[in-house]
Amino acid sequence: MPAARKAARTTARTGKTAKPARAARGKRPDPERVAAVVAALKKHDPHPRCALDYASPYELIVAVILSAQCTDRRVNLTTPALFARYPDAASLARAEQADVEELVRSTGFFRNKAKNLIGMARALTEEHGGQVPPGMDELLSLPGVARKTANVVRGEIFGLADGVVVDTHVARLTHRLGLTRHTDPVKIERDLMDMLSRKEWINVSHRLIRLGRTICTARKPACPTCPLDALCPKVGVSHRA
Ligand code: SF4
Repeated sequence: MPAARKAARTTARTGKTAKPARAARGKRPDPERVAAVVAALKKHDPHPRCALDYASPYELIVAVILSAQCTDRRVNLTTPALFARYPDAASLARAEQADVEELVRSTGFFRNKAKNLIGMARALTEEHGGQVPPGMDELLSLPGVARKTANVVRGEIFGLADGVVVDTHVARLTHRLGLTRHTDPVKIERDLMDMLSRKEWINVSHRLIRLGRTICTARKPACPTCPLDALCPKVGVSHRA
């Protein structure tokens, strides 16, 4: 069914009519609808937080590196043992690769992740006094740290918003909600940065990630319980979309 037709469908739960997804037709989404989506997300999740468990900037950067191609839940199950063995950058910098590999094996790509974690810890120790630096360029120079990781760290630890974190959940939800017609995370991020004020950038991705994990899942979105059902052109979608 075409997106515009789906968008005009009356939702079963609320009886309200969803407006068309302009982005799905190649145009920018209606600012009023974007504002309504943001407001509904805020109402549903007034106190958003990062889905990764951490107690320090060091723990956060490690967790974000491990979250590549891995669920946050799996990372949260993995990091307690890793942090118990290597509680700071100095200890991780001295780690044996094989030992770290074993500890992070369940997160996938474990050889590369272990190598990056040790390299990152060495760089923190040798160049930044063991501390996670706030600068985007400094963060991007660390092994294993790409723009998404740097955005998460700067937003979470320093309250600095350079962009919007786009992970698999944000990509899926923005697409379903008709906020973007792109699938490339970099282009999705650009669309979100254009349509949202900078003060929304950090929390909107926390809220979308939580909604994506709990309600608008990839395989079985629970539209009847979704706080965005009246605004979503894909309401009722029951497969990957
Ligand atoms: S759960 Fe359904 S209504 Fe909610 S955002 Fe996902 S597709 Fe749209």
